[in-house]
Amino acid sequence: MHPFQFVESQTVEGAIHAVAADPQAVFFAGGTTLVDLMKLDVMTPGALVDVNRTLPNAIVESGGTIQIGANVRNSDLAEHGLIRERFPVLSEAVLAGASAQLRNMASTGGNILQRTRCPYFREVHAACNKRVCGSGCDAMKGFHRSHAVLGTSECCIATHPSDMCVALAMLDAVVSTQKANGDTRRIPFNEFHLLPGETPDRETVLEHGEIILGIEIEPSRLSRQSHYLKVRDRASYEFALASAAVALDVDGDTIRAARIGLGGVATKPWRSPEAEAALTGKPVAKDTFRAAAEAAFAAAKPRRDNAFKIELGKRTLVRALEELWQRH
Ligand code: SF4
Repeated sequence: MHPFQFVESQTVEGAIHAVAADPQAVFFAGGTTLVDLMKLDVMTPGALVDVNRTLPNAIVESGGTIQIGANVRNSDLAEHGLIRERFPVLSEAVLAGASAQLRNMASTGGNILQRTRCPYFREVHAACNKRVCGSGCDAMKGFHRSHAVLGTSECCIATHPSDMCVALAMLDAVVSTQKANGDTRRIPFNEFHLLPGETPDRETVLEHGEIILGIEIEPSRLSRQSHYLKVRDRASYEFALASAAVALDVDGDTIRAARIGLGGVATKPWRSPEAEAALTGKPVAKDTFRAAAEAAFAAAKPRRDNAFKIELGKRTLVRALEELWQRH
């Protein structure tokens, strides 16, 4: 591991200025991704600026909105009464991720910034455009069973690993941030992560030194009637091959509104307006769910090892909708 400085910050402004002043500095919260990647020499920051004592770590209701502090640990988020009651999809998604020990450490802000699990990204001797833009992509001709079929480019096909983010994309969450000049931003979640395009090394719209303060979500009929389903190679401590975050608002037997997020199959937390349009105004029926799944994956681009994900993703979405409907 490369030597680094450890800087304890006492205020949000102090932390922001410490990172903004040093191009090699990064924020440090739970460290569950960062320390992992530092041990592999994939990330070699010159300084870690500890924000564990400075960022908000509470979940509060204010003006009809739920505000989740960036320092709220994943375990606390998943088990919080407000979240379990009004956003079951979010609680289920967080509990589907990682292990209990990791969820106890991992912060909400850090989860949003999780890096991909592409094995070539995590191996410094491999060519990887995400690690070193312009160096190539060994996954294209290598082993890419776990890689994405939606949102890919010729530079990168890495899957976004977070379960929590799939639920937040479906819930129309907003990310609140603060920059070094004091400006604050409220970034719609679906605009926060970037598609890889020709610059897969740039994963979010955050500027250097801009810190995540928290997440806002609004409860609604849809958020209360929501569900997360994850399909993976083993039942725990494994990343998704395919997952679906779903919500339905049903009037009689007709779907009044729907929200669909997909995980394990895309380069960023994936929202599917195509599937939502295929569900809205239609009867609750397996044929309707299957039509939505077809729409969700119409633009999918399979490669040699991961073509199975298209059918798996469709079946995951249909099953998630069926489970949600049976529950209600
Ligand atoms: Fe790197 Fe993306 Fe290629 Fe994986 S898929 S090796 S992360 S460029």
